[in-house]
Amino acid sequence: MAALRSINQDDLRNHNLSVVLDTMLRSTAPMSRAELAKATGLTKATMSLLVPMLVSSDVVREGKPAPMSAYGRPSTPLVIGGGRICGLGLQINTDGYGVTALDLDGRTVVERWVAQPMGNTDPEDIFTELDVLARECEAFASEQGYHIVGAGLALPGLVTADKRLLTARNLGWEQLELDEFPVVSRLEVRADNEANMAALAQVPGYATQRKSDEGLNPVDSFIYVSTDIGIGGAVVRDGKVDSGMHGFAGEVGHISVALDGKPCRCGRKGCLEMYAGRKALIEAAGVDSGDQALRIEAVDELIRRWKAREQRTVQAVDIAVDSMVSAMASAINILDVDTVILGGLWQRFGTGVANMIEQRLQPQILGSSAIAVRVRMSNIGTRAALNGAAQVGLRCFLDDPLEFINS
Ligand SMILES: [Zn+2]
Repeated sequence: MAALRSINQDDLRNHNLSVVLDTMLRSTAPMSRAELAKATGLTKATMSLLVPMLVSSDVVREGKPAPMSAYGRPSTPLVIGGGRICGLGLQINTDGYGVTALDLDGRTVVERWVAQPMGNTDPEDIFTELDVLARECEAFASEQGYHIVGAGLALPGLVTADKRLLTARNLGWEQLELDEFPVVSRLEVRADNEANMAALAQVPGYATQRKSDEGLNPVDSFIYVSTDIGIGGAVVRDGKVDSGMHGFAGEVGHISVALDGKPCRCGRKGCLEMYAGRKALIEAAGVDSGDQALRIEAVDELIRRWKAREQRTVQAVDIAVDSMVSAMASAINILDVDTVILGGLWQRFGTGVANMIEQRLQPQILGSSAIAVRVRMSNIGTRAALNGAAQVGLRCFLDDPLEFINS
């Protein structure tokens, strides 16, 4: 009886610590014990048990007390303490592979990226190299006094819940048991599709300190469009990725926008990525073709020509915008989600193009008079999926803080 009771108390404490940390991460301003109690629904007595645990383990620090009022007791702001907890993000993408370590306060502790063409590479070689990079990053973070709490891995393909990569066409990889690679089993990596990881990185306060209250809220719903060689995507509902029954939901790149359109590698015709994906756009603009169109330098040339208003490029981008509008209208009508975030190549086109898509999209939405559609570019740099993977690693701590606090 006694043992059962103590287990339950630990579970409850773990849950409460997790709620307190999540509340702090989602807040843009430091919170006092009283504010945290009010926001979490926990009693002040519980808060005065939990906060010292977080402070003594250096996960939370006390700021300078500020008097609330002439008669009130001084309130001490609590802030997430950087320098103690970090998550490891691993990514294998079409343009290279790399590792990052991300602090709970949002800072990048260390990052290593190897840029190289990845088509038809040997998975064994790449995972071995990735392990070397990961060990370098782990050693660096440990020297800095960090506790590495978990790791995520972003892959450019279909990943199942039991860690199988079914296919990553742009790498030429099929049917891989990910746990057979030492780096995956050694770090107990959580693996997912790169678009799902990049989408999580957009959610403010998901696993790192929220910086500002502009833009999205932590519980917003949105469609994330990830443009690389092709187009991937993810659906985020109430701040969580809705990955569907098999983990493959949100593949907006394969919404058909033309019944008799160009044949897609997925077997359908006229898929969005055949007009708005990186390779398709570079070919349509006449910048390059075939394997040459996969080169990352071709993107710079595409953007240069588009900015110079070169006619063929402008036409290709216009068709891509129309295709994006058509696919997003279908997705929004099915999902009843009013916000679209564009990442990857499309980020390079800037806010003007996001606004143009938004304007063309608005009249195509069912219930248009009652819904204001928002389209925006991702404000995370070029490696959103790597950042998201590290945040997935940090969730190992946030979902089970007691294990790390006690260790
Ligand atoms: Zn397709």
